[in-house]
Amino acid sequence: MIFPIYIIGASVLRKKAVKIDKSYPDLKELIDNMFNTMYSSEGVGLAAPQTGKSIRLVVIDGTEIESDDEDFSDFKKVFINAEILERDGKEVSFEEGCLSIPSVREDVKRLDRIRIKYQDENFKWHDDVFEGFKARVIQHEYDHLEGVLFTDRISPIRRRLIKNRLQALSRGKFDVKYKVRLASKR
Ligand SMILES: [Zn+2]
Repeated sequence: MIFPIYIIGASVLRKKAVKIDKSYPDLKELIDNMFNTMYSSEGVGLAAPQTGKSIRLVVIDGTEIESDDEDFSDFKKVFINAEILERDGKEVSFEEGCLSIPSVREDVKRLDRIRIKYQDENFKWHDDVFEGFKARVIQHEYDHLEGVLFTDRISPIRRRLIKNRLQALSRGKFDVKYKVRLASKR
């Protein structure tokens, strides 16, 4: 099953997501569906709130990324109940986009090394360090669990400049090939 992607303006994207445990219903199927949804919308990462579920679950598959500097061949992961323990390294600026904010790309500064504690799809705990682009992707998805969008992290000037565009997105003024869900009308 392919889920619709919730678009900026939807309240679920602004909630702090809750932890889950093994008893979460049909979790394996949910993870499969999240991967399928991500592939069909050509994303590298997807957080559960983007599919309307406010739980601490993220899927990432960067194995198709081609790079001479970093090895992405093992970068297919499920993060459950993740918690970033440390952020350090150097601050790097890079243009980000998001399936929930169609057609907008903006420079975001992030530290390029993180240490993160998380459970995998079998609820086994890991404590890993990620660097470079991997650290960026994980931080972007992790932000979704905290109700934060990348447009919250751009410069105040840029944010003011794209404010109207973001409001138009929330009203459905965009064109994408994947299924979406807008904020319910009041
Ligand atoms: Zn995103």
